[in-house]
Amino acid sequence: MRIDILTLFPDMCNAVMNESIIGRAQKAGKVEIVCTNIRDFAGNKHNKVDDTPYGGGMGMIMAPSPIYDCYKSLYNEGEAKPYLVYLSPKGTTFNQKKAVEFSKLDRLVLLCGHYEGIDQRVIDEIVDEEISIGDFVLTGGELPALAVADAVCRVLPGVLSEDICFEEESHFDGLLEFPQYTRPAVWHEKEVPEVLLSGNHAKINDWRRAESLLITMEKRPDMLKNDQLSEKDKKLLKKHAESVK
Ligand code: SAM
Repeated sequence: MRIDILTLFPDMCNAVMNESIIGRAQKAGKVEIVCTNIRDFAGNKHNKVDDTPYGGGMGMIMAPSPIYDCYKSLYNEGEAKPYLVYLSPKGTTFNQKKAVEFSKLDRLVLLCGHYEGIDQRVIDEIVDEEISIGDFVLTGGELPALAVADAVCRVLPGVLSEDICFEEESHFDGLLEFPQYTRPAVWHEKEVPEVLLSGNHAKINDWRRAESLLITMEKRPDMLKNDQLSEKDKKLLKKHAESVK
């Protein structure tokens, strides 16, 4: 898969994308991430890419032509148009399901706005989808684009050591993850739950599933309500409650 990030701050994006797991995935050829500077397409001697808003008001608006030309430079005439996502506080909220959906694309382009946003006409002409990372406003689309690119990359085959690494995580199957522990078995007089030291994988899986259900109902009742539980999960929770009495 190839992910393009169209931005006024390519160094900021490269710095993050070339580190750690995503950096290693790029080196191993599992994903290609290309950050392109929209300013390179300014088309004027001062490299100006923004202007004042028509109708008045605060701040500057990114002009349509540099963004359009930058996007058009990514593919040749006759080639399929890469899917273009504009990071915007007005978009649909990003989630794990979207990350998996985007990871199935051959190419994904992430467009970062800045200042007061971008000219609506270029959004109407080239953007396939608007995505927000939450109900707050940041100064630019770079942090949202990096969050989306990271979430997409880690569900690509071969990026994590095993697919199960993300399949068991929060949100993958509509539940939050169970609590995790590592050595030492006792820390600050707090013990790791005994079942996790038992080596009995069936019991460990039941414990983890029960904890996931309980945590999700407690922290995110919008994701799972008591009356939505299957009979099997209800039985599991009853058994779990008895075992921790
Ligand atoms: N004036 C715009 C509005 O009220 O909707 C906000 C512009 S914001 C200061 C500048 C850029 O940051 C946006 O064009 C967008 O790319 C990015 N941005 C800010 N908050 C975001 C969010 N919650 N999710 C995704 N992108 C965001």
